[in-house]
Amino acid sequence: MARILVIGGGIAGTATAVALRKAGIEVAVYEAHPDSAEDIGAFLTLASNGMRALAQLDASAAVTAVGFPLVSMRVVDHAGAELAHVPLGEADDPQLQYRCLRRGELNAALQAEAARRGIGIVHGARLSSVEDGPDGVTAHFADGSTAAGDLLVGADGLSSTVRRAISPATQPRYTGQRVFYGYTRAASVSGPDACITMVRGRTVPFGCAVSPGGEAHWFARVPGVPLSAAELAQGSAAGRRDLLVPLLREDAPVAADVVASTTDDILVTNATEIPPGSPWRASRTLLIGDAAHAASPATGQGASMALEDAVVLAKSLRDAPDTETALSCYESLRRPRTEHNTTVSGNISRGTHTPSRPAGGAPPSRPGDDDLSRILEWDSDIVATRQAQER
Ligand SMILES: Cc1cc2nc3c(=O)[nH]c(=O)nc-3n(C[C@H](O)[C@H](O)[C@H](O)COP(=O)(O)OP(=O)(O)OC[C@H]3O[C@@H](n4cnc5c(N)ncnc54)[C@H](O)[C@@H]3O)c2cc1C
Repeated sequence: MARILVIGGGIAGTATAVALRKAGIEVAVYEAHPDSAEDIGAFLTLASNGMRALAQLDASAAVTAVGFPLVSMRVVDHAGAELAHVPLGEADDPQLQYRCLRRGELNAALQAEAARRGIGIVHGARLSSVEDGPDGVTAHFADGSTAAGDLLVGADGLSSTVRRAISPATQPRYTGQRVFYGYTRAASVSGPDACITMVRGRTVPFGCAVSPGGEAHWFARVPGVPLSAAELAQGSAAGRRDLLVPLLREDAPVAADVVASTTDDILVTNATEIPPGSPWRASRTLLIGDAAHAASPATGQGASMALEDAVVLAKSLRDAPDTETALSCYESLRRPRTEHNTTVSGNISRGTHTPSRPAGGAPPSRPGDDDLSRILEWDSDIVATRQAQER
């Protein structure tokens, strides 16, 4: 594999570039955003599986330098009575513990790590079309420039331009919830350190984690019709607070005080997914991350799945005898696992599935959980592992 073009310098694209470089493959990243200054945006949690993928890229330290760890989760009912308090993931391993951080911080940390390793990230390069030919693939950018490679990886997120080239019929699908996010230092939130509290409101699920510096990071998932593009872009913090607080007072009063004390920006997004079964590849073009398998945020796995994608793709291209075998190995390992996540997460958002945890605290299993360590382990041959699974 001579040269790979990665479109999108978000979580999936940057991690994939780092992984490909580690595998000794030439790679360049093309990112539409004009500079590396990220909007900080909503927070997310990286789960232990995502942290395991990062560790295989020797990139844990870059990410544990930002955000804060989470080692347990409390579930309380709408009135604040504790239903469960369970450990989260690999809580005893500082490298693999869940981590809570802002999406922009994670992106910036990964981009800085890629730059430190000498990987070129071209900013201001917005892909407009893809020309996929028998001898190579060419990316055409909005400024008229082009780049040629042997494989083009579309890591350009939910509204992927690469996906439109591969599968014009695939459309992102709203899953029934608007998700609000905010930060406040003014709320008094009790609970153990390094713990995320989930409030099972009767209709509005709410979550809150407090950083060691005392800043509460909260989200609320509100059922209803999707917000318009104008409402998403222009709504004010006060307007969003005024919508949420009365809803939460009726439904989950323990959460209403946290939201009422939030004076900074309140972010909102429509929870959206890519329908399972959508095509991921055509000839010399492949989709990864949200471009391929965006899920509603309910399971909190999107970024972790993107990091797993990066390791599995680089290992497949490193270990397979040819590109077709590599991409087929990649898809067979990734599709069942990511689509299970999309389905479960979407059903939680649609209200057709209630998140549950057995009393012992182990999270529900996903396809591939049993083999995950072996699949991600950098030095193992992924094609041989896949063949052994098939026997
Ligand atoms: C509000 C919210 C909360 C979430 N919470 C969690 C959570 O708790 N845990 C979790 O694991 N995940 C969470 N996720 C999901 C997670 O953020 C995504 O799964 C993850 O960001 C996907 O990474 P990506 O690189 O595939 O896409 P993105 O992060 O969207 O990156 C795509 C990149 O491509 C660039 N791009 C787009 N179009 C072009 C183009 N034409 N040319 C060049 N570049 C282009 C964009 O500028 C961007 O940098 C959440 C998502 C949202 C929206």
